[in-house]
Amino acid sequence: MIELKHLEVWFVTGSQDLYGEETLRKVAENAAAIADALDKTPEMPVRVVFKPTVKSPEEIFNVCKDANTQRNCIGLITWMHTFSPAKMWISGLKILQKPMLHFHTQFNRDIPWHSIDMDFMNLNQSAHGDREFGFILSRMRRYRKVVTGHWQDTECLNSICGWVRAAAGWHDWQGARFVRFGDNMRFVAVTDGDKVEAEMTFGYSVNTHGVGDLVEVIKTISEAETSALVEEYLHAYQVAESLKPAGTRHPSLRDAARIELGIGKFLEQGNYKGFTTTFEDLHGMTQLPGIAAQRLMAKGFGFAGEGDWKTAALVRAMKTMGAGLKGGNSFMEDYTYHFEPGNNMVLGAHMLEICPSIADAKPRCEIHPLGIGGKADPVRLVFNSTAGPAINASVIDMGNRFRMLVNEVEAVVPENDLPNLPVARVLWKPYPDMKKGCTGWILAGGAHHTCYSQNISSEQMEDFAGMAGIEFVKIDRNTDLYHFRNELRWNDRFFQ
Ligand code: MN
Repeated sequence: MIELKHLEVWFVTGSQDLYGEETLRKVAENAAAIADALDKTPEMPVRVVFKPTVKSPEEIFNVCKDANTQRNCIGLITWMHTFSPAKMWISGLKILQKPMLHFHTQFNRDIPWHSIDMDFMNLNQSAHGDREFGFILSRMRRYRKVVTGHWQDTECLNSICGWVRAAAGWHDWQGARFVRFGDNMRFVAVTDGDKVEAEMTFGYSVNTHGVGDLVEVIKTISEAETSALVEEYLHAYQVAESLKPAGTRHPSLRDAARIELGIGKFLEQGNYKGFTTTFEDLHGMTQLPGIAAQRLMAKGFGFAGEGDWKTAALVRAMKTMGAGLKGGNSFMEDYTYHFEPGNNMVLGAHMLEICPSIADAKPRCEIHPLGIGGKADPVRLVFNSTAGPAINASVIDMGNRFRMLVNEVEAVVPENDLPNLPVARVLWKPYPDMKKGCTGWILAGGAHHTCYSQNISSEQMEDFAGMAGIEFVKIDRNTDLYHFRNELRWNDRFFQ
């Protein structure tokens, strides 16, 4: 499970020495109160740490330097309670490597109509102090999120907490290791890409092991360990009769458990945060990992099929962003369409590997043949997913840049049973509607593999893409294809 509470965002308030001790004392007191309120906000997933007011280029440089090197600091929240001449910020901002949120707020919510005087005005001047700060960030072309409003406003707090989660996902990627068992599915384009560029842009590394290396680890799993995990399966899922200890297919369940334990051990030994498999490369393995990939995803590992390392890493990032929240995140594939007039839908699934964190009930554990791969029948978890708002997110390699594409969707409860469908599945309706949503996705070159999320918003994905400095396009309720096409063209020029 992924924990976030050991992480910190720093609350940094800018000012200058001009105002005298009394005003600066008040600035520090008010800033501490805001930092404390943010820290105590129930939705805040990390600690918010108050930092002393910065009033000079040296103090600003030092807090940025410290933020870069403090392992647990995932970003800065900045606020100019008073005026902080922004040339003082240049040297600090030049070296700052952590994400920044500029909270454009004011300590006093209301103007005290009857008592307001120049002292009040001089203390509460973020209305122009924050503009000076905004200028230098724009002048330096620095990415940052800006949240405007009073610090006790629920909308602001939600937006800040959402950004903090995106920053936690970004932090998790820095130095992260992902492993591929086997290469890409042969000839597939969208799942391939530039791993060197990805490491430079995203901070994570991707390396491949021949599946034989994994098989060697699977061989070290003991019968006792396998039996213990089988026992866990029997309690956690509705296990098919044939897979139970007295059933004819029970050896397959033991094989599946051994594979899960082997992959888990490999990931632990190599300090990996996620992995890919491919049905084209299973030498020495008995079956394609199904339940193994599903359960390891549910534990927080990133995963994608067919060697798709970009999606595996994205699944991990989104699981980190959603840690502790209701709902789940899963590897997903747009599989089949329902084109009934007035009721268009996408059926999302994969050959096996959908994460049970999005399940609507206790999954069934079943065994069925797999049409491809030429191996033994794989064991998998089968379930429907919960209805409600969700997103599909995809990262693709455009050659000169990465593009993140997000489609907001509405998941629906299947109107019919799907008794012959042997895989976990989700049904959703894309926004703004099926035709525009799918057309937009195709025009943007979005992959067939995505991370499907029930608890991350497109705004958070936009924040996340901003931290990476990559292109972000979304398809939502307001998408108009004429403007969307132009946006793609203009982005091509912007990122050339
Ligand atoms: Mn696939």
